[in-house]
Amino acid sequence: MIDLKDFEYSELEAYLISIGEKKFRAAQIYKWLHMGVTSYDEMTDISKSLRLKLSENTYVSTLEIEQKFVSQLDGTVKYLFRLPDGNCIESVVMRYHHGLTICISSQIGCRMGCRFCASTIGGLYRSLTAGEILNQVIFAEKDMGERISNIVIMGIGEPLDNYDNVIKFLHNVNHEKGKNIGYRHITLSTCGVVPGIYKLADEGMPITLTISLHAPNDEIRSSVMPINHKYRINELIKACKYYVDVTGRRLSFEYSLIHGVNDSIKNADELAALVKQLHAHVNLIPVNKVEERSFVKGTKDEINAFRDRLIARGVNATIRRELGSDISASCGQLRKKAVGIKDTVNGE
Ligand code: SAH
Repeated sequence: MIDLKDFEYSELEAYLISIGEKKFRAAQIYKWLHMGVTSYDEMTDISKSLRLKLSENTYVSTLEIEQKFVSQLDGTVKYLFRLPDGNCIESVVMRYHHGLTICISSQIGCRMGCRFCASTIGGLYRSLTAGEILNQVIFAEKDMGERISNIVIMGIGEPLDNYDNVIKFLHNVNHEKGKNIGYRHITLSTCGVVPGIYKLADEGMPITLTISLHAPNDEIRSSVMPINHKYRINELIKACKYYVDVTGRRLSFEYSLIHGVNDSIKNADELAALVKQLHAHVNLIPVNKVEERSFVKGTKDEINAFRDRLIARGVNATIRRELGSDISASCGQLRKKAVGIKDTVNGE
């Protein structure tokens, strides 16, 4: 059975023609799918016979809200969605002055193995389909009853490790007959899959790219992020330059401050030298506590001192405001509890 949300618009048109239907039906069906209907019966301007015909080989995919948490502090909403195959994924909706932003997952689990991250404990189960990625936006928006205007692909998974489905999702969520979310309102975060960055640059899709850097040199980076054994920092920076040159988009770096690992003033100086070549913004994230990991954050003064040092070195740096801290809004933790994932890295 085919999930019609795995088709791009032109593929949906082609499919309809292949079953003897008129091309213009695609506009109607696409609109309904993206509005979040859960069955063909809700497509009221489609004839009963076409609905029947569609249901022979295709289906309308859905996401069940397994759990929902609303932050009392800032209105952040965290969803634990259940997929039809029983797996769980997490999405978070955050409220900013400019509207709602959703943070979505791209895979079930992750095989990148970053030492501080909850999503990678238990490894990769499977990648999400394009329709499953899109459904997070569709069903969160439907539940919120308010337009979601921005997307960050920063939830569970490594988006560039699920390249084709993520690109398909981006085309669909941007489509004027669907959610029509502008590429400039979409951010993709990667741990640094270098070939994927080059490919993405050539897609002609002006999304914002953010790199999870987390270390100012190869020694530290390799010790916390296995991907660095494959692609060294200088290769990563080269790919970033290419992305900026080709797309004309700015780029930013995520840097989780881990006490005693990457948060010394010397580290700040190294980091400044690295990112200044790109005029990039640095987002500092005091590392979130993950049960199975021993990493901790420094004091407020230490965190501020790190930021101030970057600024003194001419780098645009900010400390990420923590949203939804009362509902453990950072990703990976809920799914882990829901499906009882054990730590395979530390053998606990
Ligand atoms: N795989 C992608 C996107 C998902 S992770 C990537 O690596 O960018 C989203 C961000 O949260 C990444 O920057 C990731 O490194 C960071 N992160 C993961 N665990 C964290 C933790 N315990 N504390 C702070 N940031 C964390």
